[in-house]
Amino acid sequence: MTEHTLFHKIRDREIPATVVFEDDEVMAFKDIHPKAPTHLLFIAKKDTDFVPSIDDLTEKTAHVPGLLILKAQAFAKEHGIVGYQLKFHVGKAGGQEVFYLHLHFLSEQKIEA
Ligand code: 5GP
Repeated sequence: MTEHTLFHKIRDREIPATVVFEDDEVMAFKDIHPKAPTHLLFIAKKDTDFVPSIDDLTEKTAHVPGLLILKAQAFAKEHGIVGYQLKFHVGKAGGQEVFYLHLHFLSEQKIEA
């Protein structure tokens, strides 16, 4: 089954987003409704890393949250962000709206992107 969520469309640049970081594995873009001066969403890009939610993790995809966290940590260091929050919303009842695993990165510090 080919999944096609909103974040697939952002990943594939079918709809625009303000991308602040990208490499072969991960993309980070600004949340359209920011809840902090910096509010970014980190997603894994590879189809083999796709998982809808933390709830759906298997041994095959268990590395994905760590990958997102490491990239967020590197991003923070690179941008001199010394304090931040990382969040996964899990399931509709946990506030998850988009079923493409993503890490929320929030900081009171603003980035220049
Ligand atoms: P969730 O609630 O699923 O953990 O988070 C989804 C996030 O995606 C929300 O914070 C929401 O503001 C953000 N969002 C929804 N639609 C768009 C969009 O079209 N572009 C961007 N950049 N963010 C979006």
